[in-house]
Amino acid sequence: MQELTHYIDGEHVKGTSGRFADVYNPATGEVQAKVPLANGDEMARAVAAAAKAQPAWAAVNPQRRARVMMAFVQLLHRDMDKLAEALSREHGKTLPDAKGDVIRGLEVVEYCIGAPHLLKGEFTDSAGPGIDMYSMRQPLGVTAGITPFNFPAMIPMWMFAPAIVCGNAFILKPSERDPSVPLMLAELMAEAGAPKGILQVVNGDKEAVDAILYDDTIQSVGFVGSTPIAEYIYGTGCAQGKRVQCFGGAKNHMIIMPDADMEQAADALVGAGYGAAGERCMAISVAVPVGDDTADRLLEKLVPKVEALKVGPYTSGNDVDYGPVVTAAAKANIERLVQTGIDQGAKLVVDGRNFNLQGYEDGFFVGAHLFDNVTKDMDIYKTEIFGPVLSTVRAKTYEEALGLAMDHEYGNGTAIFTRDGDTARDFAARVNVGMVGINVPIPVPLAYHTFGGWKKSVFGDLNQHGPDAFKFYTRTKTITSRWPSGIKEGGEFSIPVME
Ligand code: NAD
Repeated sequence: MQELTHYIDGEHVKGTSGRFADVYNPATGEVQAKVPLANGDEMARAVAAAAKAQPAWAAVNPQRRARVMMAFVQLLHRDMDKLAEALSREHGKTLPDAKGDVIRGLEVVEYCIGAPHLLKGEFTDSAGPGIDMYSMRQPLGVTAGITPFNFPAMIPMWMFAPAIVCGNAFILKPSERDPSVPLMLAELMAEAGAPKGILQVVNGDKEAVDAILYDDTIQSVGFVGSTPIAEYIYGTGCAQGKRVQCFGGAKNHMIIMPDADMEQAADALVGAGYGAAGERCMAISVAVPVGDDTADRLLEKLVPKVEALKVGPYTSGNDVDYGPVVTAAAKANIERLVQTGIDQGAKLVVDGRNFNLQGYEDGFFVGAHLFDNVTKDMDIYKTEIFGPVLSTVRAKTYEEALGLAMDHEYGNGTAIFTRDGDTARDFAARVNVGMVGINVPIPVPLAYHTFGGWKKSVFGDLNQHGPDAFKFYTRTKTITSRWPSGIKEGGEFSIPVME
C-alpha cells in the first residue's frame, strides 16, 4: 500500500501524527493509498519553513518571480498526461475532464505571469509642493489555502499561483480524498524554480485546518468547499484577525424560455448536469422550463440524452461521459436524497437506481437520474446533491423562474436559454447570483476575470483569480513624500487640504 507524504521545506516527509486517511480508486472501490493527517507540530514545521523563506522570495523582483510561473506552465504541459491520470485515478473523473481540471488551473498561472504589470502601484506626481504620493502592493507573508476534492489541480493553482507570484509563501492543505496531484504540483513548482518553503503541502483534516486557523504567523486563508465548513473557516479565521475568503456550495438553476432552441438547451443540460458526475460547484442541478409546453418539449429531447449517457471508469478514455463519485459515502448520500425525492412526490423520469457496471461492482458509480415536477419544499431542491441528479421545476412564468433562482439560499452560477435579448438582459441585470450564463450552461469566467458566487456560496469580499486575487494576496501601502525642500515654515497644526 502506497503511503503518501507531506511536502515540507522542499522535500517529501512522512507523516508523524500516526493518523492516516484512506485514498480510494473510486472506479474499483479499492483503497490505493493512505494519506497522513497532520497534527499541529507538522503544520508548525511548515509555517516555520515558510516564514524563513518568504522575505527573500518577496525581495526577488516580480519579473523573475513571473519566470518561475512561465517555467511551471511548461512543466504542466510536459506532465499533462501523468497529472491527468493521477487525478482521474483518485477522483474518478474522465481523462479529458481531468485535463480540463489542470488546464483551467494552468490558465490562472498564465495570468499570473503578468505580475510585473499587475503589481504596479499608483503614483501621483506633485500632489502638493514638492510632494509625491505613491502606493505599493506588498505581499502578506505566509498564506494558506484549504481545497476541496472536486478540482484537485485547478483550485490549488487558483490559490497558490497568485499568492506566490505576489511574493508570499503558501501552505496548501488539499482534500484528503485526492492528495496526489497537489503533491505533484508542489514538486513541479520546485523544479520551475520556487525556493524551498515557498509552496508546501500539508495533508490533513480538521486538525490541520485548525492548526492553520489558530497560527499567528499565517496571514490569510483561502477556502473552497462546502458551505458549513466555509462558514466555520470564515468565522474562525476572521476572529483570529486573518484575511479570509471562502467559497461554498451551490444549487445552480438553468431557465429555459419557450423560445429557446430545445436541442441546444437539452445538450447543455446533459453536459452541465451530469458532467463529472455532477460533482462541480458550477453544475446545473435545477432545470426551470417556463410553461408546461416548454417543459414537455424540453423533456422530450432531454430524456433520451440522459438515458444514453455512458458511465464508466476513466480507463475507458473518451468512451465515457462521466465516472464514479468520489467515495462510498458520497454515493450513499446521493441515493438517500433520490429516495427523499420519490417519497416527497417528485416524478423520477430517468431512474438510475439500478445502475450496475460489470466488472466494477464495488466502484462508486451512480446512474443518471432525472426528476420532473420537483417543488421548492422538497429536499432534492433545497440541498446540494453533488451527484448525477437533475431536478426539473416547472415555472408558469419568467418572473416565477427568476424568483426561484433568486430565493434559493445559494447563488454561485445560473443560466438562461432564450433567443430574446431583452429577456436575457433583464435576467443578467436582476438575478442575485454571481456568475450568469446566457445560452451558456456553465459560465465559469476565464482567468483574467474573477470567479465567485453570491449569497451562501461565498464568505468574504474578493473573488478568486483575475485582478481580485492580486488584491487578496497583497496589501496596499501608500507613501507621501516631500523632497527636497523640507519643512521650513514651522509646524502645521491643521490637517492639510489641497486647494
Ligand atoms: P468539504 O467542505 O467537505 O471539504 C473541503 C475542505 O475542507 C477539505 O480540504 C477538507 O479536508 C476540509 N474539511 C472538511 N471538513 C472539515 C471540518 N469539519 N473542519 C475543517 N475543515 C474541514 O468539501 P468537498 O466535499 O471536498 O467539496 C465539495 C464542496 O465544495 C461542494 O459543496 C462544492 O459546491 C464546493 N465547491 C465550491 C466551489 C466554489 O468555488 N464555490 C468550487 C468547488 C467546490
